[in-house]
Amino acid sequence: MNGSDQSRKNGSGRGSSAYPLAVRELIEQLARLPGIGTRSAERLAFHVLKSDMDSAMALASAIAAVKETVGHCDRCYNLCDGEVCSICSDPSRDHSRVLVVEQPKDLIALEQTGMYPGLYHVLMGRLSPLDGIGPDDLTIGKLMERIQKSAGADQVPISEVVLGLNPTVEGDGTALYLASELERLGVKISRLARGLPSGGSLEYANKAVLADAILGRQSM
Ligand code: ZN
Repeated sequence: MNGSDQSRKNGSGRGSSAYPLAVRELIEQLARLPGIGTRSAERLAFHVLKSDMDSAMALASAIAAVKETVGHCDRCYNLCDGEVCSICSDPSRDHSRVLVVEQPKDLIALEQTGMYPGLYHVLMGRLSPLDGIGPDDLTIGKLMERIQKSAGADQVPISEVVLGLNPTVEGDGTALYLASELERLGVKISRLARGLPSGGSLEYANKAVLADAILGRQSM
């Protein structure tokens, strides 16, 4: 049973057939969004119905524009509306350092700190043997190629790769795999520090966080 059959069966709510077809369709589409159940989808659909024509059309064309114009940077796979993103094409950034993340949203979170001057590489996921996701499903090959090519005459050679994967079992597995691949290219490999979150309290931290905090301690 596919998603829309499921939602028809469970109801885009009881009595959803009382809605005109276009409204039913909108509710069904909204209910497919992550974190949106049928109730929320109905609420959003009513919001759209009540909105004036201009704001409803602005929403529709923003969705269309994002699909038509936004793709991935040829070099780092960041979201981008041209061939190369604004970070990769910024000459004031440190092109010798590349921070590897799983998703564009991780890059955006790190970028918002304003603390990292280098470039990025987005893997577009992480290794997950149980889900059948292997190295070829990610942009790992492109990263290796990118590092090797950077040694060419007219580019700044990439000398350090910072691993910024999520601190999960799969993220750690991916980081280990990358570290062993990268070793062969002779670049310096580091990883983002981990430990206790600011404002947090020791008693609520889990064992893995505490272990990382102890291993990653810094001198004062
Ligand atoms: Zn880029």
